[in-house]
Amino acid sequence: MNDENLDKFVSERGRMVVEDLRGRGITDERVLDVMGQIRREDFVVGKYQSHAYDDGPLPIGMGQTISQPYIVALMSEQLRVEKGHEILEIGTGSGYQTAVLSRLGRWVYTIERHGELTNPAQNALEKAERRNVEFCIGDGSCGWPGERVFDRIIITAAVEGLPGPLVEQLKDGGIMVAPVGQMYSQELMVYKKAGEKMIGKTICSVRFVKLIGKYGFAE
Ligand code: SAM
Repeated sequence: MNDENLDKFVSERGRMVVEDLRGRGITDERVLDVMGQIRREDFVVGKYQSHAYDDGPLPIGMGQTISQPYIVALMSEQLRVEKGHEILEIGTGSGYQTAVLSRLGRWVYTIERHGELTNPAQNALEKAERRNVEFCIGDGSCGWPGERVFDRIIITAAVEGLPGPLVEQLKDGGIMVAPVGQMYSQELMVYKKAGEKMIGKTICSVRFVKLIGKYGFAE
């Protein structure tokens, strides 16, 4: 990448933070700071790289997308990640949301169904010097393999309802953020686990690709 492109991306990243994130109501300074530093262009492939700071989702291959920057910021803000937190992410995709979360919390465990996406995501995260991420290829609707619990869980693909294994893997008092609804339209929901209950709040309407798996949509 030449110097001219680098400068262009730096100024576009600054614009994104001011106009698309802060300008739309994102107030969490840690989220704004992190998204002002991570090179989104490294998570976007080929001809789409020059659109890395566009105000929308972009294709990343396998029929999947990197989410709109505002949605990444909103989900990260709603997750209220603290420095010591262990986070489970379902749907690694490009790894961009993973990179944001890895700067906010202690460790990110991320699951992607398409192995073809995991390699580029791993490379981009290495380039971003993120070493606190563990990857898994498989059906994230079944949760992280083995018995584990997490402080925070984020589902970055649409579900009709919360997958049971993910509810089980959330610590008591933990927070889960997910797009919940039908195949082509969902509500972004934030849940707090209180004993056996998941207390939910609607944030806004969204449109995500579907979570395909045993506790998600059929292929
Ligand atoms: N947050 C990602 C980013 O920043 O690039 C975007 C995620 S994309 C909207 C949703 C991802 O969920 C896709 O990569 C898709 O392959 C993945 N996915 C769908 N069903 C899944 C499942 N059961 N387990 C794991 N990943 C799944």
